[in-house]
Amino acid sequence: MLNKEFFRHNCDPFLKYLNRAGSVGIVIMDRQFIITDCNDYFLRMIENDNRPCGDHLSKYLAHEDKTFMKQLIREETDRIRLTIVGQKGSRISMSGYFTEFASGYVLFLERAWIEDDEVIKEISKLNNEMANMTRELNKKNIELQRANARINNLLRTDSLTAIANRLYFMEYYSKIYASALRHGNALSLIMADLDYFKKINDQYGHQVGDEVLVAFATILKENSRSGDLAARYGGEEFVVLLMQTDAKGGKKQAERIRKNLEDKEIGSKKIKVTASFGVAELKSGDNMDDLLRKADEALYRAKGQGRNRVVV
Ligand code: GH3
Ligand code: MG
Ligand code: MG
Repeated sequence: MLNKEFFRHNCDPFLKYLNRAGSVGIVIMDRQFIITDCNDYFLRMIENDNRPCGDHLSKYLAHEDKTFMKQLIREETDRIRLTIVGQKGSRISMSGYFTEFASGYVLFLERAWIEDDEVIKEISKLNNEMANMTRELNKKNIELQRANARINNLLRTDSLTAIANRLYFMEYYSKIYASALRHGNALSLIMADLDYFKKINDQYGHQVGDEVLVAFATILKENSRSGDLAARYGGEEFVVLLMQTDAKGGKKQAERIRKNLEDKEIGSKKIKVTASFGVAELKSGDNMDDLLRKADEALYRAKGQGRNRVVV
């Protein structure tokens, strides 16, 4: 055990250690907590080159620790947790030992030792926070996926008629085209265009024209089997892609649609409209554009032959 007698004659090595080498911060203060001296370790903690003599201790404590000052005057606390704030903004959590001597106070500061249960509490708190954040993130991800699906749907749907638009038709067609070629399945295409549609617009107005477009799209959709795709190809031009169907079957289907439209009275004004249809089937050696081109040529002929008819 070290004793006073020993120190009286041999204090130099201890002072040397406490001043330069030890990992304990030592601050000497007067009764008003004004710093009168400190060792090198404390200087490093507060990121200062010069001894902060004349400064109040609270200058180097985190805000929340300043209340400690009052507590310190009242009683010598055995161990206190302090956060030392460096002049460049660093914050170090320290365990302090505060004691009184003849002309003031000494504060010894060591690296804070965190108790096991404190660590466990902190970890489980962080774990909880992380679980909550993960849950929140998963929820947001699902919402995002739904929103993306909705955007993708909207992007491929014609806003007026609510059937597929040209973008979706081309995507679907390229898939079906490849698989029809690979498996040698029949595939045919109906291209339809309303007759004298400009006149409908001129006579009844654009809104009634829109109603006619919606009615025609509905007929196309109602006449499509599963796997078939009806789409609005352009202004008043529509296409229907028919799975496992040759030109003969395509003609029958187009004829049914033509008759359906012919017989229909659209809207409150009971408007009668007809459409012309071009039908084509995929032949071996055809590329993707060939089927579209052949259907379009047939449609052109249907118009030329007097409209309201199907040409293969
Ligand atoms: P044809 O029998 O030769 O096909 O004659 P048409 O009048 O139907 O053909 P044309 O290409 O001359 O006119 C098509 C019209 O379709 C012109 C355009 O204003 C109209 N149209 C295109 N898109 C829409 C739309 O979304 N709503 C309405 N109401 N009209 C549209
Ligand atoms: Mg037309
Ligand atoms: Mg047209």
